[in-house]
Amino acid sequence: MPADPRQCFGLVVALQANYCWVDLVPAAAQAGQLQRLLCTRRTRLAKSGQTICVGDRVRLEGIDWSSGRAAIAAVEPRSSLVPRPAVANVSLVVVVVAVAEPALDPIQLTRFLITAEATGQPVLLVFSKADLLPELAMSQWSERAAAWGYGALPVSCRDGRGLEALRERLSQPGLAVVCGPSGVGKSSLLNGLRPGLELPVAAVSGRLQRGRHTTRHVELFALAPGALVADTPGFNRPDLPADPARLAGLFPEVRQRLARASCQFRDCLHQGEPGCAVGNDWERHPWYGLCLHDLLEQQDRLQRQGQQRADNQGLRQRGDRLEPRLSLQLRQPSRRRQRQRLHGRVEEGVGEDGGPGFSPPDPAG
Ligand code: GDP
Ligand code: ZN
Repeated sequence: MPADPRQCFGLVVALQANYCWVDLVPAAAQAGQLQRLLCTRRTRLAKSGQTICVGDRVRLEGIDWSSGRAAIAAVEPRSSLVPRPAVANVSLVVVVVAVAEPALDPIQLTRFLITAEATGQPVLLVFSKADLLPELAMSQWSERAAAWGYGALPVSCRDGRGLEALRERLSQPGLAVVCGPSGVGKSSLLNGLRPGLELPVAAVSGRLQRGRHTTRHVELFALAPGALVADTPGFNRPDLPADPARLAGLFPEVRQRLARASCQFRDCLHQGEPGCAVGNDWERHPWYGLCLHDLLEQQDRLQRQGQQRADNQGLRQRGDRLEPRLSLQLRQPSRRRQRQRLHGRVEEGVGEDGGPGFSPPDPAG
């Protein structure tokens, strides 16, 4: 128990525009007192640029027990962070995809798995709506996932298969985040795991059979003491990690291969060249190639944007560093310009690089 009764530690369970809901950690919650407080954040936190996410452990000050309000004074260091929507201190990432309605898109699934792997936390793959596929097709998906390095769990809210196994896994202490495309049945699953939760469930709509965005806010709920689950808004195309060199390591089957034999090429992007230890005889190799291509393009685009910004700030790229562009008055007149001056051919107002150029001295001045 902290010495100051008006100071406690808590866990951010939900965010709203300017405030958040914080559950007091059990040790700090006093008997008969509120477990959940509505909190603002101290201005100095906002000024220091410290963000607050669901899953953050925070120090509270100025607790007013009668109104159930407090202020967040500090955010504890995070052990992990899932981006978009941000969830901190995640210890398990559950990726849910439906085997039908909408049809399973293995490339989209791969992008979700990459995002999940990028957290550095264990990943659980769940195949939902298993009732919609015949047994044989289901086991084919499971075999494929196993070859990628995932022991997938088939579940169905209709016939109840896999729900107990999922509940058991999510009841272990920690914070599990459930993500996946919209419409795959995440809300239905979480409702099934915890009756009374009542997350809105949307009918899968439209030509693309993608569910509507019904789950908007991230919220944590406890499935068992110390076992928290976060439901995240669906997104169909998660971002890839920024660094192309990191991508291969986010594929378990590549990690396995690299554990057996290290690649002889330095800084290899493992695109399956002869001699590359990763090779190309794995199912997701072409999708790895697609993601890598996207990433390299994205890197290129960012570099070009950076260059453009630098140009606008009067800088120019010299090799891999930026240096200031000399102002025209400070520049040595170029040979060509000197020649032109001699021949009286400098056009007024236009320099060599198309910018405002050298102006001939005012004859009157
Ligand atoms: P979310 O967007 O991932 O949260 O998906 P929802 O839980 O809102 O479900 C989208 C649609 O899929 C709804 O029409 C559900 O009734 C349906 N659905 C959910 N789970 C199952 C399932 O196990 N089997 C079948 N056949 N349909 C399901
Ligand atoms: Zn290689």
